[in-house]
Amino acid sequence: MAAKKMVLIGGGHAHMVTLARLRTFSEKGYEVTVIQPSDYHYYSGMGPGMLGGTYTPDEIRFNTRKVVEGQGGCFIRGKVRRIDPAHQVVSLEGAEGNIAYDVLSCNAGSFVPLGSFIQGPNVFTAKPIEGLLKARQEIIKRGKRESLEIAIIGGGPSGLEIAGNIWQLSELEELPAVTIRILAGKQLMRHHPEKIGILARKICTKRGIEVVEGSYVQEMKGGYITLQDGRSYRADMIFPAIGVKPSAIFAESGLPTGPDGGLLVNEYLQSTTFSNIFGGGDCISFQPRPLAKVGVYAVRANPVLYHNLMAALDGKQLLSFDPGGQYLLIYNLGGGVGILCKWFFIFSGRFAFTIKDHIDRKFIETFQAVEQNNLHLR
Ligand SMILES: Cc1cc2nc3c(=O)[nH]c(=O)nc-3n(C[C@H](O)[C@H](O)[C@H](O)COP(=O)(O)OP(=O)(O)OC[C@H]3O[C@@H](n4cnc5c(N)ncnc54)[C@H](O)[C@@H]3O)c2cc1C
Repeated sequence: MAAKKMVLIGGGHAHMVTLARLRTFSEKGYEVTVIQPSDYHYYSGMGPGMLGGTYTPDEIRFNTRKVVEGQGGCFIRGKVRRIDPAHQVVSLEGAEGNIAYDVLSCNAGSFVPLGSFIQGPNVFTAKPIEGLLKARQEIIKRGKRESLEIAIIGGGPSGLEIAGNIWQLSELEELPAVTIRILAGKQLMRHHPEKIGILARKICTKRGIEVVEGSYVQEMKGGYITLQDGRSYRADMIFPAIGVKPSAIFAESGLPTGPDGGLLVNEYLQSTTFSNIFGGGDCISFQPRPLAKVGVYAVRANPVLYHNLMAALDGKQLLSFDPGGQYLLIYNLGGGVGILCKWFFIFSGRFAFTIKDHIDRKFIETFQAVEQNNLHLR
């Protein structure tokens, strides 16, 4: 009998445990293929810190190819374009042929949906995280030779973290004339407790980061951004941080999706229609209740996703996923400063960043240890 095939789309945060324990699948004779556009997976929680220069790219990434191949799996550098659930195959962008699966797991993440008015070579998005590395190099190159006006579109957590870390970068690199402006829409950190917005505004003001509130971007033309209320700003580099949407492959493949376009999954992280398709992280729409697009849920999904993939191959019982309650949120505002929020406990300062730095480093180092020793987590 032919070996059963498991295919993983993306080596994101929800697949980390499955990747670390990949050998347990090969040992049972299952063939595992992992498809990802890059050999590395970048830990997004540390992405803004890489932009600011707190972390090097090596410190925040996981060598997916090495881990997969070291445990007897097959790694394909590529981007999945379509899933055909009837024939149990996936196809890749720009490549001929199909890849067959018996069990498929999707951790393809999300993207920043750029409106038609946000385009061009000076536009940098935070997804994929690698884009922030390119932005960093560009800011240093241009900031050393000319005055630079940088616009961050969006006043949510990622816009705030990007602005704070560009400020840190300008300080560290001694860039003489960088203006940082957050075009925050109606209000900075509008969907968060009021105190977070107050603390964030205070930090921005102290650093000379301009926060523009009360209107949304209407147009981007000839190096200028115009707001709906008519205010207009020069923008040499633009960072749209306007939220994310789940990967489009599910909708494009005709799979059942939730209201946000993510793969619709039940409490077992299993497609509501195709019992051999699973998923976790930003790319899913969790049917029991909507989940915020935060890495915490992707990380929490790990053990259940690992168990259920093995159970699906073995023909055993699935486990249900409990996303859990409130989680700790810490924003990295650059300059060694963070804002911490849990329940009604909110404060800013160096201690907040130190906690985040410790948690993030521990997380990525755990998985990098797998990469270096080719051990699998127990
Ligand atoms: C700037 C920024 C900072 C953030 N900071 C935090 C934080 O501090 N804490 C927190 O909890 N959340 C944070 N988030 C949210 C967090 O990034 C996401 O919730 C998290 O990345 C989701 O993990 P994921 O594995 O689902 O997706 P991703 O991390 O995006 O991983 C998806 C993977 O799939 C691959 N992939 C994508 N498309 C395809 C395809 N078509 N075929 C094959 N592979 C594909 C990608 O290459 C990638 O490896 C932040 C987000 C941003 C933008």
